Amino acid sequence: MVKLLLLGLSGDSGCQVAAVGLHDKLLKILMGNELVYAPTLIDVKEIPEKIDVAIIEGGLRTKHEVEVIKKIRANSNILISLGSCACFGGIPGLANTEHGKVLLKKIYTEQKGTSVGVIPVVDELLSGQFPIHTAVQVDYLIPGCPPEINDIEYTLVTLLNGEKPTKCLTDVCEDCPRERLGVYSNKLKRIFEEVSDPKRCLLEQGFLCMGPATMGGCGAPCPAAGMPCDGCRGPTIKNSDQGLTMLDALTSLISEMKDNFDLTQHIGILYRYTYPDSNLVKNFIGGQKNE
Ligand code: SF4
Ligand code: SF4
Repeated sequence: MVKLLLLGLSGDSGCQVAAVGLHDKLLKILMGNELVYAPTLIDVKEIPEKIDVAIIEGGLRTKHEVEVIKKIRANSNILISLGSCACFGGIPGLANTEHGKVLLKKIYTEQKGTSVGVIPVVDELLSGQFPIHTAVQVDYLIPGCPPEINDIEYTLVTLLNGEKPTKCLTDVCEDCPRERLGVYSNKLKRIFEEVSDPKRCLLEQGFLCMGPATMGGCGAPCPAAGMPCDGCRGPTIKNSDQGLTMLDALTSLISEMKDNFDLTQHIGILYRYTYPDSNLVKNFIGGQKNE
């Protein structure tokens, strides 16, 4: 019998709910094993000892969460980060452009309607939102926003069979059904603008599609449906920094569309899910640390 822990940090629970999409397969996975700690599902207050597999969703936002994850790591054989917040910082990580204390002040006392507000007393904040691996060793990542249910099933079933899951080696473009001709538009398009060719690559049509810089394995459902990939599965195996990889893919395009491109404006596209984990931020923009 394998003892499982399921926890959402930073108040997250959506990626755990994504696992419900496994339907009866989830029952098969749980059958014969024991869920020993899962605040969204069972009422157990203390983190148990001797956990076999700990599955953690959400990023680190407070010092208390860092203490909790350290305790779980010490008590667990295998630790998995579930979803892009846990793996890379996720969309909340874009808030790292400001220190957490500055953000609290802005939101609770400096916005329209909060000018007489009071900053709430919360756990001691870290300077930003950070992925789990900045505090403890993580054994496996299941990225995505939300993660693919096939990935959740594959990782859990493989581990429960005593084997090691392997990583996806492709990027999203390799799964994408759209035709690439190697000829690019010289105009950058906004997401709401019309897709002129329904079968052609969106990047070639001027949309900032993150496919070349994003780990594949999802089957490219977004570009297949007419929406640019926004990079929810994080970087590929070959390139650790999603934004820099994308800029590399855009080099010829940027010179053509230089009047329409602004790095500071596009940071939320290039690093939508990976800002706290990017080499750019870690090495050049203030070297943010998990503190
Ligand atoms: S850039 Fe986007 S639309 Fe083009 S092939 Fe890659 S995933 Fe498909
Ligand atoms: S196509 Fe891109 S945004 Fe859509 S699920 Fe795949 S990685 Fe995520």
